[in-house]
Amino acid sequence: MSWIIIVWSMNAAACLTLASIYFLVWCKQREGWAYFVLSCNAVAGAALTAFELALMRAQTGEQYGVILRWAAFPVWAVVVSLVVFVRLYLRAGRPWLAWSVCGVRTLALILNFIFVPNLSYLQIISLKQVSWWGGETVSVPVGETNPWILVAQLSLLLLIIFFVDATIAAWRRGDWQRALVVGGALIFFSAVAVGEAVLVVWGIIQAPFLACFSYLGLIAAMGYQMSNDMLQRAQLARRLQASEADLRETQERMELAASAADLGMWLWDIVRNEIWITDKGRVLFGFAPSEKIDFDRFQNMLHPEDRESVLQAVENSLRTGAEYRSEYRAVLPDGQIRWIVGRGDVEFNGDGQPVRMRGASADITKRKEAELEAARQREQLAHLSRVTTLGELSGSIAHELSLPLSAILTNAQAAQRILSNDRGDLVELREILNDIVSEDKRAGEVIRRLRLLLKKGEMQQHSLGMNDVVRDVLKLIRSDLINQKVTVETELVQNLPTVSGDPVQLQQVLLNLVVNACEAMASCNTSKRRLVIRTRIENDGGAVVVSVTDQGISIPEEKMEKIFEPFFSTKEKGMGIGLSVCRTIIAAHRGKLWAANNLDRGATFYFSLPIKVSLVTTALRRRSVGSDTAEVPRHREAATTGTEKDSSKELIPDS
Ligand code: ADP
Repeated sequence: MSWIIIVWSMNAAACLTLASIYFLVWCKQREGWAYFVLSCNAVAGAALTAFELALMRAQTGEQYGVILRWAAFPVWAVVVSLVVFVRLYLRAGRPWLAWSVCGVRTLALILNFIFVPNLSYLQIISLKQVSWWGGETVSVPVGETNPWILVAQLSLLLLIIFFVDATIAAWRRGDWQRALVVGGALIFFSAVAVGEAVLVVWGIIQAPFLACFSYLGLIAAMGYQMSNDMLQRAQLARRLQASEADLRETQERMELAASAADLGMWLWDIVRNEIWITDKGRVLFGFAPSEKIDFDRFQNMLHPEDRESVLQAVENSLRTGAEYRSEYRAVLPDGQIRWIVGRGDVEFNGDGQPVRMRGASADITKRKEAELEAARQREQLAHLSRVTTLGELSGSIAHELSLPLSAILTNAQAAQRILSNDRGDLVELREILNDIVSEDKRAGEVIRRLRLLLKKGEMQQHSLGMNDVVRDVLKLIRSDLINQKVTVETELVQNLPTVSGDPVQLQQVLLNLVVNACEAMASCNTSKRRLVIRTRIENDGGAVVVSVTDQGISIPEEKMEKIFEPFFSTKEKGMGIGLSVCRTIIAAHRGKLWAANNLDRGATFYFSLPIKVSLVTTALRRRSVGSDTAEVPRHREAATTGTEKDSSKELIPDS
């Protein structure tokens, strides 16, 4: 048997084998169109091999011409499928070049059937039997080359340019291996095949067409790279499987932990407005098992009183990326109310837009009920303590009331005298009535403050200026201070940021501290009975601190903490609940109450209260532009003397 037939048949068989392998791969992986195109390409390659063999075995020039004409079909198929393959696999190559290659090659195919015998030759005069490969002879045409063959050769030149362009683009993109193996093989083997065909057609060498060998090399290189790809993909899939298994395990562990901690986990897809939530979470919020949940659904189950604050917390997280935290009440479908705490984190995309929020929620109803109960008890105790303190002050409060009342009486008697006189002086009468009105207001003010302090009620949250609280308290116990001959100085920072709190409770704290301070100074010489109340900003503008400094008996160091314990008292008639109530009140305001002895004598009691968040920023901004609030000159006031300009003046009772 002829060696040529064996070798060319093996070549065709190799092409067909590769074609079927790629076809099978494509069948398994339908989106891998590059495999399908490569499979078609390999079939065309096998056909090309068969045509080359037939050309070598042609008996007459006419036969050669016909075979060469029909060989144009597999050549067209190989060229076009290679272009498509490069676009699909290398994802590169300019489209206009691709279209040019296909267009010119199609034109060559059409011209091939217009010319007789074909596009390569105008006429084939004879066939020459050339001895080739181990003494075997092959047919080589002798004839006139068709100048239109340049069209076909132009398409091949464009094809090589297209390969070069695609290879460079893939290389630049960083796809080095594909560029080197596939792009390199495409350029090299097509250049060899085209070069050999050109030499044969133009009669420069006398040899058969040998494109099939280049083609086999080409397809083998492409096959190598694609198998490599498949191998890598398989490894990747294995790794993915392993990490998916890890992920599943982590997820299971997390779910276990979440369920052990009674947490409902959720994920809010902000873009699609869909909320995924674990079964535990559904039970927590009272959502039906298969119910679709979006943000509106979540909002609707919120208690109307808490809706605003929750929406604000969500809005704040989405805007600033801060952790979402809120405690709110959920109204379940059966009307039951459940306290829930929620925490979450926001994820942003590359443009800084929030895309997802994930977090967990838990039932805190029991804790909240306990807190509310504790608050109620604290209220009662605080009220009791207030009543006790005011009871102690009752004498001076009565005095405070008797002053305006006796003034009213005196004025009224004077008015009566004027009226009994026939020539009543209207101007004088008006002045007297004005005095009566202002004295009445003064008495009314005392009663209003008293009523406020004696009132029983839940803790209120208001924006408060601590300087005002200090002034209000001093007005209330003005008479008591006068009676005890205590001088009070106030050093209040101007533009003090506001705090959030209950005015009555904070007045109560200050009242307690002032009363204690006066009692601590009771045994001192009257000239030493000096009380200083200061306000200042601390914690980098994060808190307001109020301090009450006395010149009294000081606190023994070992009792410094004990004095805050309930029922600890060193006084004969003391109940020992004042400071402990003050501490709970300040703690409920997220603040601190503490005491320290002064260097010379007496003690100072301090309490700090956090500044409202928005105000912290304002204060910090003010600091950063150079007008540090803490350094604003302090405004000195003498609150109890009635001579507010001179704070150091000894107190003179004004009755
Ligand atoms: P009470 O005044 O009924 O004793 P408090 O809780 O107000 O109860 O005070 C507890 C104790 O703390 C007081 O008995 C006193 O020993 C001590 N104390 C409070 N304020 C001062 C002060 N300014 N100087 C010295 N000791 C004080």
